[in-house]
Amino acid sequence: MLESVKPLEGKTALITGGSRGIGRAIARALAAQGADIAVVSSGNGQAAADVCRKIAGEYGVRTAHYICDVSDFEKTKETVGNVRSDFGGIGILVNCAGITRDGLILRMKEEDFDRVVDVNLKGAFNMIRHCSGIFLRQRGGCIINISSVVGLTGNAGQANYAASKAGLIGLTKAVARELAGRNIRCNAIAPGFIGTDMTEGIDTDRISASVPLGRIGCPEEVAQAAVYLAEAAYVTGTVLTVDGGLAM
Ligand code: NAD
Repeated sequence: MLESVKPLEGKTALITGGSRGIGRAIARALAAQGADIAVVSSGNGQAAADVCRKIAGEYGVRTAHYICDVSDFEKTKETVGNVRSDFGGIGILVNCAGITRDGLILRMKEEDFDRVVDVNLKGAFNMIRHCSGIFLRQRGGCIINISSVVGLTGNAGQANYAASKAGLIGLTKAVARELAGRNIRCNAIAPGFIGTDMTEGIDTDRISASVPLGRIGCPEEVAQAAVYLAEAAYVTGTVLTVDGGLAM
């Protein structure tokens, strides 16, 4: 009997921040559709190695992990080059690496503003910058940037984070316009409150009460949107909210 071909079979997805939380769920969901998976993360690499081993075992796809601070232009260039030579190409780039350093504007330290923008916004620029040559040569590619509803609505105590996530939406639309003619799509996802390490310690009951659907979301619900955008050939420059109705 013929085995059915999965929609993303033969494609390599590079996922920054793929070692845990939303990035890990996206890596699993893209692998379930047949994509080979390159996980990029900071830290010691143990979590990323575990994610890769599990995904390879579960879905039979190729996986590898790379340690790289996405805010480092030269290091991201080297990492993208390594992924391309290990996998033979890159078809999907998911910019999911992100951090928070919350604080009220009156007291926010310059270094906390700079670091959040460097990781969340410049990190995505670095990855797109280095992958775009590969996409152009391949005559196609898909970029998915993980923004946030906070980038659409703002949030007290998160001036740095909100600015970085709003910037990511501008970056998404500029890149979408610039590269659409070359069959390269670029979209963003704006999640609301999602249960991960990043949101550990938040008052879930209070937050849930402010969400029209009455609960926080789970990483797999964001991953569903990423699979959709990876496959939606006629969608570019969009911002897909996955927020239980929070930002409407
Ligand atoms: P998380 O803290 O669980 O995971 C963050 C990931 O980013 C980790 O894999 C970490 O290794 C990686 N990372 C951090 N700094 C890095 C750097 N300098 N270089 C490379 N990798 C780095 O967070 P999460 O909740 O899974 O969030 C993932 C993304 O989704 C982030 O961009 C976050 O801003 C965004 N987001 C999260 C929520 C939420 O409620 N959890 C809501 C909206 C948007």
